[in-house]
Formats: sequence, structure tokens, C-alpha cells
Amino acid sequence: MAVSTVFTISPAAANYRGFHVNDWELCIGCSTCQKVCDNAAISMVKIPGLPEDPVKGILNERPAIDYGRCCWCGLCVDICPTSSLSLTTEYVHTCHEDKLDSYFILPDPKGIHDKHVAVITSLGVKIQYNTRIGQDISIAELERDYDAVVVAIGLQKGRSTRIPGSDHKQVKKAVNPLRKTTEGKTFNIPHSAVVIGGGNVAMDIARSLARLQKEQYGDIRMTVTALEDFEHFLADAEEIKEAREEGIEILDSRGPKQCVIDDNGRLTGLVTLRVVSIFDEDGRFAPRYDDSDEQTHGADMVIEAIGQMADISPFGDELIERLEWNRGHLKVDQDGRSSEPWLCRPVTWYPGPTWFTRWLTDTA
Ligand code: SF4
Ligand code: SF4
Repeated sequence: MAVSTVFTISPAAANYRGFHVNDWELCIGCSTCQKVCDNAAISMVKIPGLPEDPVKGILNERPAIDYGRCCWCGLCVDICPTSSLSLTTEYVHTCHEDKLDSYFILPDPKGIHDKHVAVITSLGVKIQYNTRIGQDISIAELERDYDAVVVAIGLQKGRSTRIPGSDHKQVKKAVNPLRKTTEGKTFNIPHSAVVIGGGNVAMDIARSLARLQKEQYGDIRMTVTALEDFEHFLADAEEIKEAREEGIEILDSRGPKQCVIDDNGRLTGLVTLRVVSIFDEDGRFAPRYDDSDEQTHGADMVIEAIGQMADISPFGDELIERLEWNRGHLKVDQDGRSSEPWLCRPVTWYPGPTWFTRWLTDTA
């Protein structure tokens, strides 16, 4: 259901399906839950420290749920022969000035996160907490002391379109207001905004700000402009549908040309051109535009949601210079090795919080 009005706090219904909890003492690792899951949201993770008796059907594996795939159908809970698996009714919204938006975080009333950490440490992995690379320990020390260093730091920084005017203070990278929203920090909500980008992050920031606009100004003035046509849109169809239901205008095949700044230095909008093609004949990203089809979208904030990149400053200038890069991403071979063979990043996507143990197993 699309949300077009401000949420109010209310307790979950008794049969609300929140997050999975599994009693490891009761669970026998039969993997029935995994087999019944039509969404392939469950992976069985081997935990060497747990008892195993294959003759009695007891295996030292436990289910890990991928919430990117789960649809909360509850089949896994219904079918669990030991009733070890259940769904909690807890849910948590992060707040902004005591008013709620749509962000959910995983509650941890029974120490679920601790269990994931226990899975990793039970395999012999030592976790060194509160250690910042580049401050508490240098990347050169890691290179010296270890055979391989795996980089799995996520993508924290937004990319810029670098169109004229994109250095204006009212041009924001989507990750920054999204982070502030999630952390409950205050910032000036634009009365009108244009988002550049057609992926789920673009929809996410557009919908988040639209709700805050509704709350603050009583109406929504939000436009999303994307390079792709609707047939090739990057965002999920459900996101597009719900964004429209919330009153967000979505324009396809529009490429950003420049941000409009008036004589007083105030940002007033974004100019876009119709997209003719996005890739050249070699498949490289090289958008071509129809200069005769120009539109100006009025806005007092422009948000760039065209992708993220890692904050590589902890690497230091010398290593950054030595490494090979591909459009801001560390270039690696099929095994995940960068141009410095000791420095790697995982190349296979492993869903769920146990990705590291599975990556370790596959690459061992
Ligand atoms: S069905 Fe139940 S007992 Fe079997 S692995 Fe899943 S949670 Fe454990
Ligand atoms: S609730 Fe989620 S994990 Fe369980 S069967 Fe349904 S989709 Fe799979």
C-alpha cells in the first residue's frame, strides 16, 4: 500500500510478521525451511561448534534469512518440524523530530546480530573492533602483516553528474539526505525538488523527501528524471508504482544538462534533454541527447542519485595511485584480485549477513 500521509505510531497487530528468530537449541538443521521457501531467501550456514548426528537427522546448520528476498509468507515458520523458527511482532521506525518516515531497522531483542557474529568467529575469524584503517592502523601495515586484504567497505559516497551548476550547495548527493533521514538529523526540506536517476536509491530519496514535504508544506513537489525509458527502468516496478501513488512525477528518457542558478546565486531548477541513446556501439556508457527537446524543471533542490562509490581515502594517495580503477570502482579480475594481488574484493554476491563465511568457504 502506498503511503501518502504521515505515519502515526501504532503497535503491531498480534499477527504482524516482523523478523525471524530461531531457537538454536531446538533447531535440528533439517533445512525444511530452506526447501519450502519459494523466494530462495534462506541459506543454510554450517556452524562447526553445534552438535551433529546425521543418523538422527541432526545437522549443524542453521538458516540465515535474506530480507532482500523474503516476502514474509511465513511458510518456513509453519513447516518447521521443531517449532524453533518464529516471526516476531517487533518493528522499529527511525524518527525525524518525533515524526516517522518509512525506514525500518532490524530489532535485535534476542541477540540475532550476536549470533551472526558467533557464526563468523566460530570459523576462526578474529574480529578487531574499533579499528579505523588509515587512523588506528595503516593500509601499509595490513599489506605487510597479511597475505591478503579483502575490501568490503560498502559504497558511502554519492557520484556527481558534474553538469554545470552541480557544485551548488543546493545540489545534493542522494546518500547524504538519506543518511540524515535515517539518523534522524534535521535538514532543510526543499519545497520542490528534482531527482536525477532512475534506480531504487532515486525512488528511495524521492519518496522519503516527498513524505517530509507533505508533512512540512502540505503538498508534494517532487520530480524524478531518468536516462532510461520506462521499458528499461532500473528501479523496481513496485517502487515506481508506489512513488507515483504518492504523487511523485517520474520522467523517463531525460538526461541532465545543467542546474539553473539565478542572478542571486539561488538554485531554481534543472534543465534536461531527451535521451536518444545511452550506450555507444561498443556498449560503453555514452549518452546522446536531442538538443531540440529541452525541458526546465523548477526546483529549489537537485538530488543526484546516479550511483555510489566507496570512500577510499583510508587507502592513502600512494596506494590509490598504484591501483587500477574502473569508473571509481576498484578494478579486479574474476577471482576478485586487484592490480595489487594482495588486495581483493568479493566478486560474487552472497545474500544475507553470512556472506563473509560463504565467500571464505568458496575461495578457500
Ligand atoms: S525447518 Fe526448523 S528445524 Fe529445520 S532447519 Fe529450519 S528452523 Fe531448523
Ligand atoms: S517467510 Fe520469507 S524466508 Fe520464510 S518461506 Fe516465506 S519468503 Fe521464505
